[in-house]
Amino acid sequence: AAKDAGRGTYHFYSSQLSQSADFRQRIEDDLRDALARKELLIKYQPIVDAKTHKVASLEALLRWEHPERGQVSPAEFIPVAEELGIITEIGEWVLEQVCIQLQSCPDEVRAAINVSPIQFASDDFYSAVDRILAKTGVDPARVELEITESVFVGDLERTLKLFKQLKRRGLRLSLDDFGTGYSSLSYLRDAPFDKLKIDQSFVRGCTVENNNNGALVSAIVGMAKALKMETVAEGIETKDELAMVTGHGATHLQGYIFSSPISIEELLVRFENKELEFKPRGPEKYRAE
Ligand code: C2E
Ligand code: MG
Ligand code: MG
Ligand code: MG
Repeated sequence: AAKDAGRGTYHFYSSQLSQSADFRQRIEDDLRDALARKELLIKYQPIVDAKTHKVASLEALLRWEHPERGQVSPAEFIPVAEELGIITEIGEWVLEQVCIQLQSCPDEVRAAINVSPIQFASDDFYSAVDRILAKTGVDPARVELEITESVFVGDLERTLKLFKQLKRRGLRLSLDDFGTGYSSLSYLRDAPFDKLKIDQSFVRGCTVENNNNGALVSAIVGMAKALKMETVAEGIETKDELAMVTGHGATHLQGYIFSSPISIEELLVRFENKELEFKPRGPEKYRAE
Protein backbone atom coordinates (compact mmCIF):
# COMPACT_ATOMS: atom_id res chain seq x y z
CA ALA A 1 0.00 0.00 0.00
CA ALA A 2 1.32 3.43 -0.91
CA LYS A 3 1.42 6.06 1.79
CA ASP A 4 -1.08 8.80 1.05
CA ALA A 5 -0.48 12.51 1.53
CA GLY A 6 -2.76 12.37 4.58
CA ARG A 7 -1.18 11.27 7.87
CA GLY A 8 -1.51 7.59 8.53
CA THR A 9 -3.82 6.91 5.63
CA TYR A 10 -3.06 4.39 2.95
CA HIS A 11 -4.23 3.74 -0.55
CA PHE A 12 -5.37 0.19 -0.91
CA TYR A 13 -5.82 0.05 -4.60
CA SER A 14 -2.81 -0.36 -6.73
CA SER A 15 -3.87 0.86 -10.15
CA GLN A 16 -4.27 -2.76 -11.25
CA LEU A 17 -6.30 -3.80 -8.25
CA SER A 18 -8.68 -0.90 -8.67
CA GLN A 19 -9.43 -2.13 -12.15
CA SER A 20 -10.42 -5.52 -10.83
CA ALA A 21 -14.20 -5.62 -10.73
CA ASP A 22 -14.04 -8.14 -7.94
CA PHE A 23 -12.01 -5.97 -5.64
CA ARG A 24 -14.16 -2.97 -6.42
CA GLN A 25 -17.28 -4.97 -5.56
CA ARG A 26 -15.79 -5.80 -2.17
CA ILE A 27 -15.04 -2.21 -1.29
CA GLU A 28 -18.53 -1.24 -2.41
CA ASP A 29 -20.17 -3.86 -0.20
CA ASP A 30 -17.99 -2.85 2.74
CA LEU A 31 -18.72 0.83 2.27
CA ARG A 32 -22.47 0.25 2.21
CA ASP A 33 -22.18 -1.24 5.70
CA ALA A 34 -19.52 1.10 7.04
CA LEU A 35 -21.99 3.54 8.61
CA ALA A 36 -24.02 0.85 10.32
CA ARG A 37 -20.84 -0.84 11.56
CA LYS A 38 -19.64 2.49 12.93
CA GLU A 39 -16.40 2.31 10.96
CA LEU A 40 -16.57 5.94 9.86
CA LEU A 41 -15.13 8.58 12.12
CA ILE A 42 -14.40 12.25 11.92
CA LYS A 43 -11.08 13.91 12.54
CA TYR A 44 -10.67 17.65 12.78
CA GLN A 45 -7.90 19.84 11.44
CA PRO A 46 -7.54 23.31 12.98
CA ILE A 47 -7.72 26.36 10.73
CA VAL A 48 -5.98 29.15 12.62
CA ASP A 49 -6.18 32.93 12.54
CA ALA A 50 -3.08 34.21 10.70
CA LYS A 51 -2.34 36.86 13.33
CA THR A 52 -2.93 34.99 16.58
CA HIS A 53 -2.55 31.34 15.49
CA LYS A 54 -5.64 30.64 17.56
CA VAL A 55 -8.06 28.09 16.15
CA ALA A 56 -10.86 29.79 14.22
CA SER A 57 -12.44 26.72 12.62
CA LEU A 58 -12.09 22.97 12.65
CA GLU A 59 -12.30 21.21 9.30
CA ALA A 60 -14.10 17.88 9.61
CA LEU A 61 -12.23 15.22 7.64
CA LEU A 62 -13.80 11.81 7.29
CA ARG A 63 -11.88 8.60 7.99
CA TRP A 64 -12.80 4.99 7.33
CA GLU A 65 -11.33 2.54 9.86
CA HIS A 66 -11.69 -0.67 7.92
CA PRO A 67 -11.32 -3.74 10.15
CA GLU A 68 -8.97 -5.50 7.71
CA ARG A 69 -7.61 -2.74 5.56
CA GLY A 70 -6.85 -0.13 8.20
CA GLN A 71 -7.47 3.54 7.59
CA VAL A 72 -8.82 4.19 4.10
CA SER A 73 -8.37 7.71 2.71
CA PRO A 74 -11.45 9.80 1.85
CA ALA A 75 -9.79 10.59 -1.48
CA GLU A 76 -10.34 6.92 -2.18
CA PHE A 77 -13.77 6.14 -0.78
CA ILE A 78 -15.68 9.41 -1.29
CA PRO A 79 -15.70 8.89 -5.10
CA VAL A 80 -17.00 5.34 -4.53
CA ALA A 81 -19.69 6.63 -2.14
CA GLU A 82 -20.68 9.20 -4.76
CA GLU A 83 -21.03 6.54 -7.45
CA LEU A 84 -23.02 4.29 -5.15
CA GLY A 85 -25.41 7.10 -4.29
CA ILE A 86 -24.70 6.77 -0.56
CA ILE A 87 -22.74 10.01 -0.27
CA THR A 88 -25.89 11.86 0.77
CA GLU A 89 -26.46 9.52 3.69
CA ILE A 90 -22.80 9.76 4.70
CA GLY A 91 -22.78 13.53 4.29
CA GLU A 92 -25.85 13.96 6.48
CA TRP A 93 -24.28 11.75 9.13
CA VAL A 94 -21.11 13.88 9.08
CA LEU A 95 -23.09 17.12 9.34
CA GLU A 96 -25.09 15.86 12.29
CA GLN A 97 -22.06 14.48 14.16
CA VAL A 98 -20.14 17.71 13.64
CA CYS A 99 -23.07 19.87 14.77
CA ILE A 100 -23.28 17.79 17.96
CA GLN A 101 -19.51 17.77 18.66
CA LEU A 102 -19.15 21.49 17.91
CA GLN A 103 -21.35 22.29 20.86
CA SER A 104 -18.68 20.96 23.22
CA CYS A 105 -16.16 23.41 21.71
CA PRO A 106 -15.66 27.07 22.70
CA ASP A 107 -18.25 29.44 21.16
CA GLU A 108 -15.70 31.25 19.02
CA VAL A 109 -14.72 28.04 17.22
CA ARG A 110 -16.51 27.14 14.01
CA ALA A 111 -16.70 23.89 12.08
CA ALA A 112 -16.01 23.48 8.36
CA ILE A 113 -17.73 20.61 6.57
CA ASN A 114 -16.97 19.32 3.09
CA VAL A 115 -20.02 18.95 0.88
CA SER A 116 -19.85 16.60 -2.09
CA PRO A 117 -21.16 18.11 -5.33
CA ILE A 118 -23.44 15.06 -5.64
CA GLN A 119 -24.90 15.73 -2.19
CA PHE A 120 -25.25 19.40 -3.08
CA ALA A 121 -27.13 18.49 -6.26
CA SER A 122 -29.72 16.34 -4.49
CA ASP A 123 -33.20 17.84 -4.29
CA ASP A 124 -33.47 17.64 -0.55
CA PHE A 125 -30.04 19.01 0.33
CA TYR A 126 -31.45 22.20 1.83
CA SER A 127 -34.20 20.49 3.80
CA ALA A 128 -31.68 17.99 5.23
CA VAL A 129 -29.38 20.80 6.36
CA ASP A 130 -32.29 22.73 7.81
CA ARG A 131 -33.53 19.66 9.68
CA ILE A 132 -30.10 18.82 11.14
CA LEU A 133 -29.54 22.42 12.29
CA ALA A 134 -32.92 22.44 14.01
CA LYS A 135 -32.45 18.99 15.54
CA THR A 136 -29.00 19.70 16.98
CA GLY A 137 -29.73 23.31 17.93
CA VAL A 138 -26.30 24.48 16.78
CA ASP A 139 -25.79 28.15 15.91
CA PRO A 140 -25.70 28.10 12.07
CA ALA A 141 -23.19 30.99 12.10
CA ARG A 142 -20.69 28.47 13.51
CA VAL A 143 -21.07 26.15 10.53
CA GLU A 144 -19.13 26.65 7.31
CA LEU A 145 -19.97 24.53 4.29
CA GLU A 146 -16.99 23.85 2.01
CA ILE A 147 -18.02 23.63 -1.60
CA THR A 148 -15.83 23.08 -4.64
CA GLU A 149 -16.00 24.88 -7.94
CA SER A 150 -17.48 21.78 -9.55
CA VAL A 151 -20.97 22.77 -8.31
CA PHE A 152 -20.92 25.46 -10.97
CA VAL A 153 -20.92 22.82 -13.68
CA GLY A 154 -24.50 21.98 -12.75
CA ASP A 155 -27.61 24.13 -12.87
CA LEU A 156 -26.16 27.59 -12.15
CA GLU A 157 -29.49 29.20 -11.35
CA ARG A 158 -30.30 26.50 -8.80
CA THR A 159 -26.80 26.70 -7.30
CA LEU A 160 -27.03 30.45 -6.72
CA LYS A 161 -30.57 30.13 -5.31
CA LEU A 162 -29.43 27.41 -2.93
CA PHE A 163 -26.46 29.52 -1.81
CA LYS A 164 -28.83 32.38 -0.98
CA GLN A 165 -31.10 30.04 0.96
CA LEU A 166 -28.16 28.67 2.97
CA LYS A 167 -26.90 32.19 3.69
CA ARG A 168 -30.38 33.24 4.80
CA ARG A 169 -30.39 30.26 7.17
CA GLY A 170 -27.27 31.80 8.70
CA LEU A 171 -24.61 29.38 7.44
CA ARG A 172 -21.23 30.40 6.08
CA LEU A 173 -19.96 29.29 2.68
CA SER A 174 -16.36 28.55 1.69
CA LEU A 175 -15.01 27.84 -1.76
CA ASP A 176 -12.64 24.87 -1.36
CA ASP A 177 -9.58 24.07 -3.47
CA PHE A 178 -9.85 27.44 -5.19
CA GLY A 179 -7.95 27.70 -8.44
CA THR A 180 -7.90 24.02 -9.36
CA GLY A 181 -11.36 23.51 -10.80
CA TYR A 182 -13.72 25.23 -13.15
CA SER A 183 -12.80 28.68 -11.90
CA SER A 184 -14.55 31.54 -13.49
CA LEU A 185 -14.30 34.90 -11.83
CA SER A 186 -17.99 35.51 -12.47
CA TYR A 187 -18.75 32.86 -9.82
CA LEU A 188 -16.87 34.90 -7.27
CA ARG A 189 -18.84 37.94 -8.26
CA ASP A 190 -22.24 36.26 -8.05
CA ALA A 191 -21.86 33.71 -5.24
CA PRO A 192 -21.97 34.79 -1.58
CA PHE A 193 -18.79 33.08 -0.35
CA ASP A 194 -17.41 34.13 3.02
CA LYS A 195 -14.10 32.38 2.49
CA LEU A 196 -11.77 31.31 -0.29
CA LYS A 197 -9.56 28.33 0.40
CA ILE A 198 -6.36 28.61 -1.63
CA ASP A 199 -5.49 25.12 -2.82
CA GLN A 200 -2.36 23.51 -1.44
CA SER A 201 -0.84 23.25 -4.90
CA PHE A 202 -0.33 27.04 -4.81
CA VAL A 203 0.89 27.00 -1.22
CA ARG A 204 3.35 24.14 -1.67
CA GLY A 205 6.62 25.64 -2.71
CA CYS A 206 5.32 29.16 -2.14
CA THR A 207 8.83 30.31 -1.25
CA VAL A 208 11.20 33.10 -2.14
CA GLU A 209 12.62 30.85 -4.89
CA ASN A 210 9.20 30.09 -6.34
CA ASN A 211 7.77 33.44 -7.29
CA ASN A 212 5.01 32.06 -9.48
CA ASN A 213 3.09 30.44 -6.64
CA GLY A 214 3.75 33.49 -4.49
CA ALA A 215 2.37 35.79 -7.17
CA LEU A 216 -0.78 33.69 -7.45
CA VAL A 217 -1.33 33.53 -3.68
CA SER A 218 -0.84 37.29 -3.48
CA ALA A 219 -3.30 37.89 -6.33
CA ILE A 220 -5.93 35.55 -4.87
CA VAL A 221 -5.67 37.18 -1.43
CA GLY A 222 -5.93 40.66 -2.97
CA MET A 223 -8.98 39.71 -4.98
CA ALA A 224 -10.66 38.05 -1.99
CA LYS A 225 -10.01 41.12 0.17
CA ALA A 226 -11.59 43.40 -2.44
CA LEU A 227 -14.61 41.07 -2.45
CA LYS A 228 -14.65 41.08 1.38
CA MET A 229 -13.89 37.39 1.63
CA GLU A 230 -11.52 35.71 4.04
CA THR A 231 -8.73 33.49 2.71
CA VAL A 232 -7.38 30.21 4.01
CA ALA A 233 -3.99 29.02 2.81
CA GLU A 234 -4.29 25.20 2.79
CA GLY A 235 -1.60 22.59 3.26
CA ILE A 236 1.17 24.68 4.83
CA GLU A 237 4.05 22.39 5.78
CA THR A 238 7.21 24.49 6.03
CA LYS A 239 8.34 27.69 7.72
CA ASP A 240 9.12 29.14 4.26
CA GLU A 241 5.59 28.49 3.03
CA LEU A 242 4.17 29.93 6.23
CA ALA A 243 6.25 33.10 5.93
CA MET A 244 5.21 33.59 2.32
CA VAL A 245 1.46 33.05 2.70
CA THR A 246 1.45 35.20 5.83
CA GLY A 247 3.43 37.88 4.01
CA HIS A 248 0.87 37.85 1.21
CA GLY A 249 -1.89 38.51 3.74
CA ALA A 250 -3.87 35.26 3.94
CA THR A 251 -6.29 35.73 6.85
CA HIS A 252 -6.32 32.05 7.90
CA LEU A 253 -3.86 29.19 7.84
CA GLN A 254 -4.12 25.41 7.75
CA GLY A 255 -1.61 22.61 7.40
CA TYR A 256 0.59 20.04 9.09
CA ILE A 257 2.87 22.82 10.35
CA PHE A 258 0.11 23.65 12.87
CA SER A 259 -1.61 20.29 13.20
CA SER A 260 -2.67 17.27 11.21
CA PRO A 261 -6.31 16.17 11.54
CA ILE A 262 -6.81 15.02 15.16
CA SER A 263 -9.56 13.49 17.27
CA ILE A 264 -12.30 15.48 18.98
CA GLU A 265 -11.10 14.05 22.31
CA GLU A 266 -7.64 15.52 21.82
CA LEU A 267 -9.15 18.87 20.92
CA LEU A 268 -11.47 18.91 23.91
CA VAL A 269 -8.52 18.37 26.26
CA ARG A 270 -6.81 21.40 24.74
CA PHE A 271 -9.95 23.49 24.97
CA GLU A 272 -10.42 22.43 28.57
CA ASN A 273 -6.92 23.82 29.23
CA LYS A 274 -7.77 27.02 27.29
CA GLU A 275 -5.14 26.15 24.70
CA LEU A 276 -6.55 27.64 21.53
CA GLU A 277 -3.23 28.57 20.01
CA PHE A 278 -1.38 26.18 17.69
CA LYS A 279 2.32 26.94 17.35
CA PRO A 280 4.13 26.23 14.08
CA ARG A 281 6.31 23.15 14.47
CA GLY A 282 9.18 21.68 12.54
CA PRO A 283 8.72 18.77 10.09
CA GLU A 284 10.45 16.36 12.49
CA LYS A 285 7.31 16.72 14.66
CA TYR A 286 4.60 15.91 12.15
CA ARG A 287 6.59 13.37 10.11
CA ALA A 288 6.62 11.22 13.23
CA GLU A 289 2.79 11.20 13.43
P1 C2E B 1 -9.93 18.97 1.30
O1 C2E B 1 -11.28 19.39 1.75
O2 C2E B 1 -9.22 19.89 0.37
O3 C2E B 1 -9.10 18.72 2.63
C1 C2E B 1 -7.74 18.99 2.78
C2 C2E B 1 -6.90 17.74 2.67
O4 C2E B 1 -5.53 18.09 2.80
C3 C2E B 1 -7.16 16.72 3.77
O5 C2E B 1 -6.93 15.43 3.22
C4 C2E B 1 -6.07 17.05 4.79
O6 C2E B 1 -5.76 15.98 5.67
C5 C2E B 1 -4.93 17.36 3.85
N1 C2E B 1 -3.92 18.23 4.46
C6 C2E B 1 -4.08 19.15 5.42
N2 C2E B 1 -2.92 19.78 5.71
C7 C2E B 1 -1.99 19.24 4.91
C8 C2E B 1 -0.57 19.47 4.73
O7 C2E B 1 0.06 20.30 5.36
N3 C2E B 1 0.06 18.71 3.79
C9 C2E B 1 -0.60 17.77 3.03
N4 C2E B 1 0.10 17.08 2.13
N5 C2E B 1 -1.95 17.55 3.17
C10 C2E B 1 -2.61 18.27 4.09
P2 C2E B 1 -7.91 14.21 3.54
O8 C2E B 1 -8.32 14.27 4.99
O9 C2E B 1 -7.25 12.98 3.03
O10 C2E B 1 -9.19 14.52 2.67
C11 C2E B 1 -9.10 14.55 1.26
C12 C2E B 1 -10.36 15.12 0.63
O11 C2E B 1 -11.47 14.26 0.88
C13 C2E B 1 -10.77 16.48 1.20
O12 C2E B 1 -10.00 17.51 0.59
C14 C2E B 1 -12.22 16.50 0.81
O13 C2E B 1 -12.37 16.91 -0.53
C15 C2E B 1 -12.62 15.04 0.91
N6 C2E B 1 -13.36 14.82 2.19
C16 C2E B 1 -12.88 14.62 3.45
N7 C2E B 1 -13.87 14.49 4.34
C17 C2E B 1 -15.03 14.61 3.64
C18 C2E B 1 -16.43 14.57 3.99
O14 C2E B 1 -16.85 14.45 5.15
N8 C2E B 1 -17.33 14.72 2.95
C19 C2E B 1 -16.93 14.91 1.67
N9 C2E B 1 -17.88 15.03 0.71
N10 C2E B 1 -15.63 14.96 1.30
C20 C2E B 1 -14.70 14.81 2.27
MG1 MG C 1 -12.16 20.99 2.52
MG1 MG D 1 -9.17 21.88 0.14
MG1 MG E 1 -9.39 18.64 -1.87
